[in-house]
Parts: sequence; C-alpha cells; structure tokens
Amino acid sequence: MKKIPFLFGIMFLVSCKTPEETRIPCHAWLGGPGKATDAVLKAQFTDLKDKGIVRLMYSAGQDPAVYKRAGKIAKDCGLQFHAWIPSLTQNYNPKMKPEWYAVNGIGESAYDKPAYADHYHFVCPNRQEIYDYLDAMYGSIADLPEVDGIHLDFIRFPDVILAKGLWKKYGLVMDREFPQFDYCYCDKCVSDFKAQTGIDIKSVKDPSEVPEWKQFRYDLITRLVNHLAETVHARNKEINAAVFPGPNSIARKIVRQEWDKWNLDAFYPMNYNDFYLEGTAWIGEMCREGVTALNNEKPLYSGLFICPDPAAKASEPDPENHGLLPGELEAAIRESVSNGAAGICLFTPDRMTEEDWVVLEKALRTNYTGNK
Ligand SMILES: [Zn+2]
Repeated sequence: MKKIPFLFGIMFLVSCKTPEETRIPCHAWLGGPGKATDAVLKAQFTDLKDKGIVRLMYSAGQDPAVYKRAGKIAKDCGLQFHAWIPSLTQNYNPKMKPEWYAVNGIGESAYDKPAYADHYHFVCPNRQEIYDYLDAMYGSIADLPEVDGIHLDFIRFPDVILAKGLWKKYGLVMDREFPQFDYCYCDKCVSDFKAQTGIDIKSVKDPSEVPEWKQFRYDLITRLVNHLAETVHARNKEINAAVFPGPNSIARKIVRQEWDKWNLDAFYPMNYNDFYLEGTAWIGEMCREGVTALNNEKPLYSGLFICPDPAAKASEPDPENHGLLPGELEAAIRESVSNGAAGICLFTPDRMTEEDWVVLEKALRTNYTGNK
C-alpha cells in the first residue's frame, strides 16, 4: 500500500518535468477552464510548461473557487499563476446597478447602449461602489495561496478612437474624438470636474480641446489602479495589467491610460501590430517607448497577437483573426527583447500553430540583448 503514493510521485515528476532553462521569459494569456477536468488541465498546463511558458495569465470569471482549482494544478506543474480579470467592463449582475455604468457624450449609458461591441459594458471608474466591488472581488482572489498575482484588463475608458486596423470592421473613420465614444459624462464625473476646475464640460462645444478634462480622466484610472495595487500588495501578491501600447503615443490618446504613473509590478502592453496596420519593427518601437516611460524600473512584457490560421490571413476580413505569422514571430520576439522588454506574453497559446511553437522554442533560447 505504501508504494502507491511513491508511484504517484514518480508519475507526477515525469508528467510535470521541467524543460531546459529558457533565456527569455514567456508568459501566456489563457482562458478556461470550461468543462475541463483536473486531468485535462494538468495535461494542458504540462504541455505549455514544456513549450517554454513560465507564467499563465488565467481568465476564468470571478469565482475564487475556480482560480483555486486551476491555480493548484498550474503551480503543481511549476507555472506561475496570475488571475486575469477585467476591471471596468462588467456584465450586469445583481450586484451591479445600472447607474454605475459609464455615460457617453450624448448621454447614453454603457449599461444598455455599449459602444462598438456587446461586451463593452464599461462602468464608471469614479464611483465608490465600483471601488468597493473591485476591492472585494480582487481581494478574495488575491487571498488564495494558489494565486501569485492579479492581472488587470479593461482598466481603461472605452476607445475614444479605435486602432486604425479596426475602422473598417466597425465602418468608422475616427480622425477625431466623437461624443458617442467619449466617456464618462455621468452626473458624478461632470460635477466632480466642475468642482475641481470650474469648467462645466457639458457646456463646452468640443471637450477634446480641454486638456484638464483629459487629465481628469487619466487621473481617474490612475487613482483606481493605485488603490487596487494597495489592496493586492496588502496580501503580498503581485499586481500587473494589460495596457495599450505607448503609453504616450497610443494608450493615453485612445483609452486614457497614463500607465507610466501606475504603481504596478509589471506591464503587458498589447503590441498587436496588425490592429495598428504596422509590422514587427513597430513592436520594437513600442517596447522602447514603454521601458523608457517606466525608466527601466519595472518589467515590461511585450504582448504578441498570434494569427490563428496563417493560410487564411490574406483573405480574412476580421482583424481579430489576423496577427503574427510564423515567419514574423522570431522578429517580433527579437524586436521586443532587443528594445528592452523583460519577456513576451502570447495571445494566445491556443492560436499558436506547430510552426509557431518551433520558432518560439528557438527564439526563447537566443540572446538578443548582446553583450551589454
Ligand atoms: Zn462617471
């Protein structure tokens, strides 16, 4: 009888074997677990670890029990496990009130009239109720020993300007800020801004020309992020975020993220070049801008958007199905790391082809930083 646990231990060691040391840290955004059993999750995580991934940013709703289960399996396989949970997009649930949702410049609420897409139910970042909700939600998950960190996403305003590669999909030409995509004009935001600056933003003909109004909204996001950082750090856990590229060239302008002011432990700019009609050299430029803005004081992991079906890319109209081809992946990694990124993050491992994995394995073992 005593042999059974011993055998179990051997099997465990074999199935969760540690791959050769890799040079470049590779993280991955991954959703789950759906109906996957523990055994299926274990096989999936072991496979990813063997392919060189060291950290999962795992998205599984808001139930701590799910993160506890998946996190235990991930950690048994030697993976770092971060809970990836959207912040300011919240589907309606009994805990959310309609008046907590963000309001655009023509008075429409993201509660029942979201911009662009059905999942764009953005809440207002300027409400105590939202602070309380996010505190409780993130706090309960950061409390879990199976969770190494919290990964914020949708920690921003809706895109007041869409990335250029998405204009066609939505039938828009966004050469300036339009009021129906500009948030938040709820009563609290309008009155707080008036109290702070004396400006009644609703009486201004073109709010995009008021720099104080822009700064007010950058600050709303920064204040919320830094508050959540305190919540998570109080539990001795890491907190980081998926952000738009920049911060100055894109993130501030289109989603009002001044992320170089955020008190986070790491940053994951979504350097999704096809969304901006750019190539791999641009990924390097974005990494350089980001690490410079952070004064090289915090790690930046370059988010890479992988093409799920390379053969169909040329005829695929939806940019969400575009992304890096196997022939571009090595250049994307090289551009990222040689321009200061601490590593990369894949969106997503499920989109990787066999050819991609071969390219990745070689690239992760390459020294792109020179003999500095
Ligand atoms: Zn508001």
